[in-house]
Amino acid sequence: MARRPKPVHQMTVAQFEATFPDEAACRRYLVARRWPNGVSCPRCGNTEVYALASGFHWQCEACTENGYRFSGTVGTIFENTNKPLRDWFKVTHLMVTSKKGISALQIMRFVGFGSYKTAWGMCHKIRAALVEPEKKLGGIVEVDETWIGGKDKNKHWDKRGRGGKHAPSTKVPVIGAVKRKGSVIARVLDSVSKQDAEAFVREAVSNKVSLLATDESRVYNGLHDYNHERVHHAAKRYVIGAVHTNTIEGFWSIFKRGIVGSYHKVSRKYLPLYVAEFQFRYNNRHNDDIFGAAIAGA
Ligand SMILES: [Zn+2]
Repeated sequence: MARRPKPVHQMTVAQFEATFPDEAACRRYLVARRWPNGVSCPRCGNTEVYALASGFHWQCEACTENGYRFSGTVGTIFENTNKPLRDWFKVTHLMVTSKKGISALQIMRFVGFGSYKTAWGMCHKIRAALVEPEKKLGGIVEVDETWIGGKDKNKHWDKRGRGGKHAPSTKVPVIGAVKRKGSVIARVLDSVSKQDAEAFVREAVSNKVSLLATDESRVYNGLHDYNHERVHHAAKRYVIGAVHTNTIEGFWSIFKRGIVGSYHKVSRKYLPLYVAEFQFRYNNRHNDDIFGAAIAGA
């Protein structure tokens, strides 16, 4: 049985070099993370697999007549790339330990990649791997929506909206739910409609919560089966006991500062990946082994 590797939170460059001196060390770490109870066949689950001489390949005799051979990266984001695992680990470590995110340009310089496209592609693959299985939130939960991107005054004149205040907005709505002292679930919306907002709440939040706190937006009008209380921002009564949305607003502020500071602008197409990245870091903020969690999900 493979031993559980030591937790890896934030390492210095020297610590990273010492923990992962070569490809073999990275391979051992990946195998121990993926298969904590010993290597099993990714096709059929058979645990009686034969290790091949390379030390990173196995053969299963149970699911294929002539034996199915697989490597330690099969089915992960590290499969079929020409980059060493060590580079992937470096990039992953930088991403999950940079509180506000880190741009592909910074990654390119720091790791020494020759092309921006390489760094950019790796970052997106890692973001996709950070998407977590979601469990409905309970306890005290806050739900709120925000808008990301598209400040007209920062855009080139020909990209600015025309037609004044009736011009279509380039901002993208994101909705989120956070359990106080717990996890966040955030999602990009097509529109902030009652239907979309309510569907999100029903998916992300248990209707057995002790309190669901939102602002007074009408999109939350239909949640009659929840113990739902609203914050009346308009009446300047921001915090009435437990009824506030300060926690989710705190998450939005980390997310926005990250998007503006590290990524400058993010297109609607890729916004869900950035949401996943910030959600993963937030939900693992007390996890001493955040790097290990990222690798295990890769
Ligand atoms: Zn098999």
